[in-house]
Amino acid sequence: MPKDGRLVIPRDMCIEGTDIPRASPDSTWKYLGVLFTPYGLLSGSVGGIIQSVNKLMYSRMTPLRKLVSLRSYVMPSYIHRLVLTDFKTKMLRSVDVAIRRAIRVALRIPHDTPNAYLYAPIADGGLGVMELATAIPELREARVRRARCALFGVQDETPEVTRVERSRKRAEKWHGTADGRHMRTARKVTESTAWVKADDGKVPRWRTLAAIKTQCNGIPTRARMTRGRNGVTSCRNGCSARETANHIIQMCPVTRRARCRRHNCVCTLFSGYAQRKGWTVMAETIINLDGSRLKPDLIIVRNDVAYIIDVAITCNEDTYPMGRVFNNKMDKYGATTVKEVIMELTGMQRVEMVPAILTWRGLWLEKSAKMLKRLVPSFILEWASRRTVDGSGYIWAAYMRNERSRARTEPSQGQL
Ligand SMILES: [Zn+2]
Repeated sequence: MPKDGRLVIPRDMCIEGTDIPRASPDSTWKYLGVLFTPYGLLSGSVGGIIQSVNKLMYSRMTPLRKLVSLRSYVMPSYIHRLVLTDFKTKMLRSVDVAIRRAIRVALRIPHDTPNAYLYAPIADGGLGVMELATAIPELREARVRRARCALFGVQDETPEVTRVERSRKRAEKWHGTADGRHMRTARKVTESTAWVKADDGKVPRWRTLAAIKTQCNGIPTRARMTRGRNGVTSCRNGCSARETANHIIQMCPVTRRARCRRHNCVCTLFSGYAQRKGWTVMAETIINLDGSRLKPDLIIVRNDVAYIIDVAITCNEDTYPMGRVFNNKMDKYGATTVKEVIMELTGMQRVEMVPAILTWRGLWLEKSAKMLKRLVPSFILEWASRRTVDGSGYIWAAYMRNERSRARTEPSQGQL
């Protein structure tokens, strides 16, 4: 219809018996999921997406289920429209900001945790959320390229950015930050981070929130809260060490009991599975050798082989890598004298040492995970990672609940 309002087509138009509907200037219609007006494509509005995300994130679902719903249902439902409608990058960025804000509130992620944590793939230790401002233009470009190729046979010379490259880029961004450095090896054992995708809905909410805080290194320790500023950074329980997350969770004597509990929880997973399978299980058997006393966590006998399983939840710093703990365990329990004692004890001809080594942020050592997967299914390893991060979160809560640890002027960070 022209601007002066004159009709250029007859009032009632009919072609071969089919009525052709007329459109007024303000009418809109949906075609293949995209809105059109008589003047062309209707430029999009982002209100609907933000509303859906907020509705989900402020609902009463468990935190991890919210995340799964956002990643797998809410955001994919808008991708088609976002790619085909004319959304400006500025608009997409505003949606990203709203989504990030909703996630941070729902999962209690500290404001100084890098955005890269939200966008890194789950296998690389992130939350796997899509960043619209970068993903939508890339998807749009790929679609136009395919359409051009199909319609006109035009082959684009520039290489296409693949999905794998895109996710690698997002992972690199997260691993390049101080908080994300620890997760560099996460992809080697995908069981380490699979718990983010699976939630049985039975774990208390505060434990999940503490687990997420542990995974993203967001525990508000004194060292973290005074980053780049002057202030007291020593342990609030009187140790001379700096109060870092590593100190609270792995070293501080105040949290020793909670640490033992976390260790036992992981051991129980393996022994529980073995018992259900009807294998012989010996827990904490004391082995006396000349001048030394050893106590491996578990001895499991399966198909004529005795396995010694010893769990260690450790850090993975450059100065103290996980591999060193693995080697120490191998040296300690893999010695011929120890094996001979266990052969005698179990009556088996073969004894194998399987150290179960993972970090306090739930990452498995690749060697250790490979050995364990020959013995137990991979879901046990996933559960062990979940219990470890859960346990680390619990240790932090225990540290903060300690009478001496909470100064009058400091907020109760342990009470989530
Ligand atoms: Zn301390």
